[in-house]
Amino acid sequence: MSVFQEYFDESHQLVRDSVRRFVEREILPSIDDWEEAEEFPRELYLKAGSAGILGIGYPEQYGGSHEGDLFAKVAASEELMRCGSGGLVAGLCSLDIGLPPLLKWASPALRERVVPQVLAGEKIIALAVTEPSGGSDVANLKTHAVREGDCYRVNGSKTFITSGVRADYYTVAVRTGGEGFAGVSLLLIEKGTPGFTVGRKLKKMGWWASDTAELFFDDCRVPVENLIGTENMGFACIMANFQSERLALALMANMTAQLALEESLSWASQREAFGKPIGKFQVLKHRLAEMATQLEVSREFTYRQAAKMAAGKSVIKEISMAKNFATDIADRITYDAVQIMGGMGYMRESLVERLYRDARILSIGGGSREIMNEIIAKQMGL
Ligand SMILES: Cc1cc2nc3c(=O)[nH]c(=O)nc-3n(C[C@H](O)[C@H](O)[C@H](O)COP(=O)(O)OP(=O)(O)OC[C@H]3O[C@@H](n4cnc5c(N)ncnc54)[C@H](O)[C@@H]3O)c2cc1C
Repeated sequence: MSVFQEYFDESHQLVRDSVRRFVEREILPSIDDWEEAEEFPRELYLKAGSAGILGIGYPEQYGGSHEGDLFAKVAASEELMRCGSGGLVAGLCSLDIGLPPLLKWASPALRERVVPQVLAGEKIIALAVTEPSGGSDVANLKTHAVREGDCYRVNGSKTFITSGVRADYYTVAVRTGGEGFAGVSLLLIEKGTPGFTVGRKLKKMGWWASDTAELFFDDCRVPVENLIGTENMGFACIMANFQSERLALALMANMTAQLALEESLSWASQREAFGKPIGKFQVLKHRLAEMATQLEVSREFTYRQAAKMAAGKSVIKEISMAKNFATDIADRITYDAVQIMGGMGYMRESLVERLYRDARILSIGGGSREIMNEIIAKQMGL
């Protein structure tokens, strides 16, 4: 019987088993090569689409399954993280940040055209909010879109966009109105639209297997039908989207910590120093006990917030707390895991070396630690 039966039922276990098999069959044998190549094959989207993995949590009418079942999504994303590459998961799952605004607010015609292709893995979608001038202050974004007849003329640029090089569709935040949050809209911009170019693939500290790009819009003409929601309501859509992104990042952080803990336990029981396994030294036993404690608390708190979200409750403050807590402990536990493994922890052949690098983005992306604290403080009335 699962310790987490309060959150997960048998159908979630089936999701877990099938995603785990997919990871073992399709990802684990090649992940080290894909990390070194800083790319995974585009074909993997098609495979994940036909295995039904990309569609988990999305409506059946578009090819999805388990719509509205948040813990099916949680189970799937945890199992995907067992591939040990945050970059692969971020890239393969960029639909989870690019698609929801479209699904909730785009016209039926746009939804019907785009969503099934993305869930099938035939097309890739990215979310483009961050700009070279800044990512935290979303309300002040500069890329602007001016309505001209049946098109918007878009000028500006975006940066650090996950799946930015390979995507076919981009959910792009633009300024259609005056200054501040009330002037922001979302447009679906398609690869190949004249005036839209993709810049260089950016080299990163971690998340090597994901592609991260700059995007440029130079008098790019986007049909008005590609407006997502109504004009100037984009900020609210982006903020709503952030809630599920922050949950996903907290789950990713917890799984990063889980893998680091598993690696540490295995190493500590095998590696010997001064005539005994290093795990027999009290200082390491205590460190492992603390790592396990931090992870357990973080995971339980994250699940609790997911359960409240699933019940339709607002968890703006708590999800920010969960993200900060989980990303903090992922940083700490991956640091400790490298330490426990000694020199081997520093080697590229060790999983913990990658986990340590990959963890670092989690407290920056999707709203930084400082922005989470701003939100928490505001919710506290400070
Ligand atoms: C690998 C990777 C993938 C990414 N993927 C995407 C993506 O797919 N789509 C997308 O749109 N973006 C993406 N991002 C961008 C990411 O969301 C931003 O980097 C993040 O929001 C921070 O924005 P910034 O880098 O411009 O930092 P800035 O906003 O310039 O902030 C710099 C520092 O100042 C701090 N700061 C800012 N404001 C305050 C304040 N009020 N109080 C205290 N401190 C503050 C920040 O916390 C940070 O420490 C990605 C980034 C990376 C590195």
